[in-house]
Amino acid sequence: MKTPATLDELINALRCLPGVGPKSAQRMAYHLLQRDKPGAHRLAGALAHALERIRPCERCNSFAEETVCALCRSPRRDPGLLCVVETPADLLMVEQAHCYEGLYFVLMGALSPLDGVGPREIHLDRLVKRASDGVVREAILATNFTVEGEATAHYVGELLRARGLKVSRIARGLPVGGELEHVDSGTLAQAVLERREA
Ligand SMILES: [Zn+2]
Repeated sequence: MKTPATLDELINALRCLPGVGPKSAQRMAYHLLQRDKPGAHRLAGALAHALERIRPCERCNSFAEETVCALCRSPRRDPGLLCVVETPADLLMVEQAHCYEGLYFVLMGALSPLDGVGPREIHLDRLVKRASDGVVREAILATNFTVEGEATAHYVGELLRARGLKVSRIARGLPVGGELEHVDSGTLAQAVLERREA
C-alpha cells in the first residue's frame, strides 16, 4: 500500500528532529494522527507560535521573546562576567548549577570547518562586540570538552584576549569529550569555580 503524499511529507518533516530515523518518524506520524489528534494540534500550534515569537536575544543570543531577555536585564547579575556557551541548553545547565552570577553569550554551535561552521556561523562578530562593551572584564569559556568545543574555546580566547579581556576556561571535573548538557550540576559548578586562565 502506498502512503498518501501528505502523510509522506509529515514523516519526512519529522526526520528533521535529532536522532529520528525513517522508522521512528513513521511511528510518530501514525501516533499523532491515529491516537493523539489533540496532541498533534497542540504540537503544531506550539511550533508555529514558537517559530513566530522566539528570536535571538540582542545581548546573549539565546532564545528570547523580547529584544533583550530577562536574564540579560536582571540587575542581580554581574555584568563584568561573560560566560560563553555553545547552546541554550548549556546556559540552562550552568544556571541550574547555581555557581555563576554573571551574564552569558550563546554561540548556537561550535566551530566545525568540515561541517561548514565557521566564525560567522557561531556569531563571533557579535560576541566580540558584546564583550567589548567596556563593562565585561572576564570571559569564561564554557564550551564542551569535545574537539569542536576545545577548538572554539581556543579561537574565541585568542580573539577576546587580543581585546584586553581576561579569559578563563572552565576546569576539571568534566571528562575529555564531555558535553555540558550531560554533566551533573555539582561537577559543572566545580568546573566553573575552578576555572583557570586560558
Ligand atoms: Zn539575553
